[in-house]
Amino acid sequence: MNKDCTGCGTCVLKCPKHCITMKLTQEGFYYPIKDTNNCINCNLCEKVCHLNHSQPQFNLLPKLYAFVNNNPSHIKQSSSGGFFPNIASHIINEKGIVFATYMDEDFNIKFGICKNISDLPMFCGSKYVQSEIGATYAVVEKELKSFKKVLFVGTPCQVAGLKSYLLKEYDNLYTMDIICHGVPSLLFFKKYLQYIESKLGKIQKFKFRDKSKYGIQCVSSCSYVHKGNLHTKIHNDNTLNYYYFYMFGDSYRECCYNCKYTNPNRISDITIGDYWGIEKENIKIQTNKGVTAVIINTEKGEKLFNIVKEGNEIYPGNYNNLKLINTALTSQVKRKKTRDTIYQELTNSNFNYLINHRYKPSTLQYIKGKIKGICPPFLFYIIKKYT
Ligand SMILES: Cc1cc2nc3c(=O)[nH]c(=O)nc-3n(C[C@H](O)[C@H](O)[C@H](O)COP(=O)(O)OP(=O)(O)OC[C@H]3O[C@@H](n4cnc5c(N)ncnc54)[C@H](O)[C@@H]3O)c2cc1C
Repeated sequence: MNKDCTGCGTCVLKCPKHCITMKLTQEGFYYPIKDTNNCINCNLCEKVCHLNHSQPQFNLLPKLYAFVNNNPSHIKQSSSGGFFPNIASHIINEKGIVFATYMDEDFNIKFGICKNISDLPMFCGSKYVQSEIGATYAVVEKELKSFKKVLFVGTPCQVAGLKSYLLKEYDNLYTMDIICHGVPSLLFFKKYLQYIESKLGKIQKFKFRDKSKYGIQCVSSCSYVHKGNLHTKIHNDNTLNYYYFYMFGDSYRECCYNCKYTNPNRISDITIGDYWGIEKENIKIQTNKGVTAVIINTEKGEKLFNIVKEGNEIYPGNYNNLKLINTALTSQVKRKKTRDTIYQELTNSNFNYLINHRYKPSTLQYIKGKIKGICPPFLFYIIKKYT
């Protein structure tokens, strides 16, 4: 098994003998497995693998903008400033199609097709789990060949997989990647949900970084619907422990620790991420609902951005400042020594076990968490803004 494999599945779709299939590992990640009996050694799987391709060199002077969507419902549904629903609405209004990630009613994280504005909300917002791509690339190709405008949004490795699958440029394809620092498996997420349900009972919905109650002021928030009521958890609540294992590199797919896309030389027309540190820049933009850092990588991306930016709050940003704060733009997250043990324990046991044995915040983290836990959200926001 190639540890750098990102699980994009291009080799599976391209194999002329259909002898490669995706199999789930114990950790809950998909990896391609070849049936060597049927393999004709054509090597196409190697040729189409994006890991064997060099990266484009088009982003030597990246243009960065701070973006806040002026549509209140867009900004509420999104994790940052709502650039995704803005650009996606434009593509749909042009009779185009958007491919992006959503969470289904069984909490699976999948790629889907969005053709109607009314379906956009479920595609908005970050899901901190590896999304299942399945045969999406083949569907994208079909739509491109029928001359539809297509917007594909995913992690950089998912965009790289698509480009390798297509093997040629399409004028009607727009790609957008997210600044990404790593993805845990669906198994990891499901075990966490089981833990929440063991405490609270059955939940009907789950959303990472739900802003509807407290705004953006705490990124490690989540909300879920239980017995018809919306519960939003922030700060030091026990039900947020998923973030502890997520943020510090304990739970990622193996390839994320060696990701070749964590650098300013991006793979897509446009890159989006959180505009961390915006408060410290000399920009008059409302920051309390989230700001998207929009990085323009290609001329095509710039043309599209110039159309969709109209009517929203936009300011040129300082790329060097963002790079310093948003480390996923320049470097991979360090692999923690405990990473394998955590997955082993999770496979053999449950999330509760992890919390009892592996949840060890540093004294500083612990004190900060306690302070946040007792601090009202508005006060926390003010402290964050002025410190
Ligand atoms: C796993 C992950 C890690 C991230 N790490 C960082 C980081 O280190 N630094 C940073 O600045 N930003 C990071 N982000 C991006 C950030 O959380 C926001 O998604 C981004 O700022 C865009 O916000 P928005 O408000 O413009 O759009 P939103 O409406 O929030 O749109 C989010 C877009 O991301 C897509 N998406 C959501 N989850 C996934 C997924 N699991 N796989 C593929 N696509 C997905 C959605 O389909 C949608 O198109 C990460 C996002 C994810 C999903």
